[in-house]
Amino acid sequence: MALIVQKFGGTSLSDPERILNVAERISAEKMKGNDCVVVVSAMGKTTDQLISLAKDVSNQVNKREMDMLLSTGEQVTIALLSMALSQNGWEAASFTGWQAGIITEPVHGNARILNIHTEKIREQLNKGKIVIVAGFQGVTEDGEITTLGRGGSDTTAVALSTALKASKCDIYTDVTGVYTTDPRHVKEAQKLAAISYDEMLELAHLGAGVLHPRAVEFAKNHNVTLEVRSSIEKERGTIIKEEVTMEQNLVVRGVAFEDEITRVTVFGLPNCLTSLSTIFSTLAKNNIDVDIIIQSMTSKEITDISFSIKNDTLKETLNVLEKNKDLLKYDHIESETGLAKVSIVGSGMVSNPGVAAEMFTVLSNNGIEIRMVSTSEIKISTVVNQQQMLPAVNALHKAFKLSAIPIRS
Ligand code: ADP
Ligand code: ASP
Ligand code: MG
Repeated sequence: MALIVQKFGGTSLSDPERILNVAERISAEKMKGNDCVVVVSAMGKTTDQLISLAKDVSNQVNKREMDMLLSTGEQVTIALLSMALSQNGWEAASFTGWQAGIITEPVHGNARILNIHTEKIREQLNKGKIVIVAGFQGVTEDGEITTLGRGGSDTTAVALSTALKASKCDIYTDVTGVYTTDPRHVKEAQKLAAISYDEMLELAHLGAGVLHPRAVEFAKNHNVTLEVRSSIEKERGTIIKEEVTMEQNLVVRGVAFEDEITRVTVFGLPNCLTSLSTIFSTLAKNNIDVDIIIQSMTSKEITDISFSIKNDTLKETLNVLEKNKDLLKYDHIESETGLAKVSIVGSGMVSNPGVAAEMFTVLSNNGIEIRMVSTSEIKISTVVNQQQMLPAVNALHKAFKLSAIPIRS
């Protein structure tokens, strides 16, 4: 008898009919004689609605109370799914994050899982019950409820798989697998039979919302093989594992994109050894997440620095920079919103020079201006005008022959 972890996302649980469908998918696994631990998200758009409710009553963000509020979303689903399973004749027990022993660091809104006390779950499994755990939430050593960041139920599932030494971790969602790019925006996107942890990690970090980046990181560190698959269709999904052979002659595995990017430029900083460290330490101390950085020398004495951030952190970024003007000694700041990041990812880039040149040529041939660039061994990211994001994605998807991958299920 194997132990299987199954995770179902919000769209797959958005109404009673879908909850009953999920109960059937779990029944099918149980009928094979397997033990099942199920992780669920909040129903449909519940988390968005709760965030919007919070904004209706207060314009100040109280992170502790926000976690208290958002964790209720998943609590609704665990109870309903447990009831649906009973309806199908199975015995099930639902657990919130804290009941399931999921201990996190003491951070609200984006906590990491530190440890899982699995005794309670094991006790129920030993009684033959299906265990249903609320994703996206945990508890600190001090008993405070925390959440793991948007999309964090994936991470709950992978962490539970590791702690319980499960034989399989299946992530059920509203698409049939991981595609070469978001299939909701690019109709030629092709499902991948498999993808490596490193490539999936880059895609997830660069905007491919199909998996929470920390879930992939966790899976890589603990060597958990994942399968992303549909909660409706029965076909095989995409396997995420250590090594994956590249489809013939391809250097790029996928294209990711993310909108709502802002570029901030700090002009007239003193050109000295400590300039960069001072500005970025100041931003880091204030929890401002900076992405791409570009430095340009204006003269021997003066340097300008541009960096990209998410739109919603602009106000805070400007506040921090203003407050520290005396320390940083810059002249003035300009910012530009309405930008997007478009990236190509593929482990084949390591041994193929000229991929960046090809990417830039494709974009320029399509009249797309590149505002910023950043590269790593297996990815190249460009910042472009937000209106040109999807044309850029489509052009790159075609140029790197991703539309032509043979479809496999
Ligand atoms: P869930 O609620 O099941 O966690 P998500 O909305 O978080 O589902 O993730 C699934 C969505 O991810 C898909 O509907 C799709 O629009 C999006 N997505 C983005 N990039 C990709 C990709 N490369 N492959 C598949 N889906 C992707
Ligand atoms: N409900 C949370 C969210 O919408 C967590 C998740 O779905 O994974 O982000
Ligand atoms: Mg998700």
